[in-house]
Amino acid sequence: MKLIKAEVLGYCMGVRRAVSLAKEALKAAAGVYPVYTVGPLIHNPQVLEQFRAQGLEVLDEVEYLEDSSSVLIIRAHGISPQLETTLACKCARMVDATCPIVKKSQIQARSLTGAGYCLFLAGEQHHGEVIGIKGYAPDCLVIAHPGEVKEAAENLYHRTPHVKTALLGQTTIAPDEYQCIARAIQVYFPNLEIIDSICKATRDRQQALIKLCTQVDALLVVGGRESANTRRLLAIAQTQGKQAWLVEAASEIPLEIRAYPTIGLAAGASTPDELIDVIAQALS
Ligand code: SF4
Repeated sequence: MKLIKAEVLGYCMGVRRAVSLAKEALKAAAGVYPVYTVGPLIHNPQVLEQFRAQGLEVLDEVEYLEDSSSVLIIRAHGISPQLETTLACKCARMVDATCPIVKKSQIQARSLTGAGYCLFLAGEQHHGEVIGIKGYAPDCLVIAHPGEVKEAAENLYHRTPHVKTALLGQTTIAPDEYQCIARAIQVYFPNLEIIDSICKATRDRQQALIKLCTQVDALLVVGGRESANTRRLLAIAQTQGKQAWLVEAASEIPLEIRAYPTIGLAAGASTPDELIDVIAQALS
């Protein structure tokens, strides 16, 4: 069996930075005071388990944070400024691990609405990143898919036909979906300002995967099932007509894979290097 790795795979800059800041915070705490995140730091079960063993606690809701001696890490997805203010009163210190690319979107959302634009935000309504950005532009219109544009844009057009409009996207949205949403809004607002907010890390991993699909017979995509970008890699491999599996651990490698002479290895942006190495070793 021949194994070929995608040219770009695994941790993106934002996740690598968040993991490193969390390690530093845990080291400084040395078990003397608690360290929390609101929601999982990254979408990878093994990494979360390692952090949990070192004392990092994941809170489901901010209400559970009651220890004023604690340190709170803001995830790479970022949070709204309103939530940041609330949390600042509940802990001793906050470590801001918001990815700089997400931070840029937050600042753009605020400055565009401050400049009088009506903002369309393309992304998943309940995704942490979208909720955070919405906090910077509370009146923005969240569009989950192109089918939602008509009603939102038509209503806006009837109320304020001459308003300046802008479109910002979740950093991990698929470029073709973003374009599709943009074109649907332009039917009502031809002067729509389209902000290029899609993260290059996502694009790079997807393009590397498409290239890999031309070189292999089947693929393994390594990463957490909770990770949206990992699941998207799997879907892309399948639309390229390849047999592909998503695995979280070496024990999940399917036996059928032996039937394929050349195997490709790809990994989502929250997959650690060590896990990629373990899977590669198991395959070889
Ligand atoms: S995918 Fe991009 S935006 Fe998201 S955390 Fe990684 S580097 Fe940041």
